[in-house]
Amino acid sequence: MTSRPVRTLFCPECGKETSELHDNRCKECFLSTLTLITCPSVLKIRVCPVCGAHFTAGKWVRETNPRDVLSQEITGSILLHPNANHEELNISEEELDQSRFLVHVTVNAVVSGINATATVDVEIRVKKETCDTCSRIAGGYYAGIVQLRAKNRIIREKEVDRCIEIADHLFNKLTEKGDHFAFVSKVEELKEGVDLYIGSATSCKQVCRAIIRELGGSYTTSPSLVGRKDGEDLYRITCAMRLPEFIRGDIIATQDTVIEVAHQDKQIHGTDLIDGHKVSVGAGTNTPAVKIGSRNDATITVLVSIEGDTVQILDPETYKTILLKKPVFLSEEAGNEVDVVKTNKGVFLLPKMLNSRYYE
Ligand SMILES: [Zn+2]
Ligand SMILES: [Zn+2]
Repeated sequence: MTSRPVRTLFCPECGKETSELHDNRCKECFLSTLTLITCPSVLKIRVCPVCGAHFTAGKWVRETNPRDVLSQEITGSILLHPNANHEELNISEEELDQSRFLVHVTVNAVVSGINATATVDVEIRVKKETCDTCSRIAGGYYAGIVQLRAKNRIIREKEVDRCIEIADHLFNKLTEKGDHFAFVSKVEELKEGVDLYIGSATSCKQVCRAIIRELGGSYTTSPSLVGRKDGEDLYRITCAMRLPEFIRGDIIATQDTVIEVAHQDKQIHGTDLIDGHKVSVGAGTNTPAVKIGSRNDATITVLVSIEGDTVQILDPETYKTILLKKPVFLSEEAGNEVDVVKTNKGVFLLPKMLNSRYYE
């Protein structure tokens, strides 16, 4: 086999001698007519002055980093040469005034085997416009109500605050994922609790489930017909959220024993005050539990003596001696002071309080 001699080529456009042709031209002629990028000289973007969302591809999008908005808009409107490969995009912006930016775009790419570079300037004009979510919130829109309550007691302020924090946290996450109805448009304080007016029925249920995961409790839903739109019935949903009946520090009596509650979810967890062991009991209707006191009612008395499984203490009111079974948590010695609680089921020793912030 004989190798072919290298042919001398001439560019048909400029007539120069060249070793290879690109699109039937020399490299210089090829690059001089190459349009690596096309991009509008002015881009208008709509940005919500309330939440910072911007309108793109037919919908409002909330960006965690506002700087990403400019680069996303630019990359979305740039057209690269169809044969461009390995492109690298560099963007730097210059603020012209409050609503205008000049963005310098530099692109490096390989087209038909040749490294090519192009630079364009794009002016971005920002128009302030309230997004659909913020308009709905401002207009008091809601599709459901979550009623924050507690079972058989008044919900505590701390619990309401925590529920609202849980809702805020959840809604921020859902909004980032593109849910435009995950919002609270109104918080109404009532004597019996707090009502949250929420953008969608789905987010109502999601809030309840998030609260239950952390604080326990349960919820029921009921729809109500509020009218018709476009030939379809319009419903709103009410979610009756009920936090658990018993809270940390409650002393409760069940059929079998007396418990200091640590927390309640589907079960009541705490310390059995008769033998001192940790217990969990069902909180259903089969095992009705009744509150008979609270850690807040605890008083101090003297541990008179310990004999085997039995302890003697003084009744905090009558100062008569009382015999009790020695609970396993008891670490005090005879003569020490101990916390006790007096209930209609008798006097009970309490375990040492490890963390007082729960009893505020
Ligand atoms: Zn040429
Ligand atoms: Zn907005």
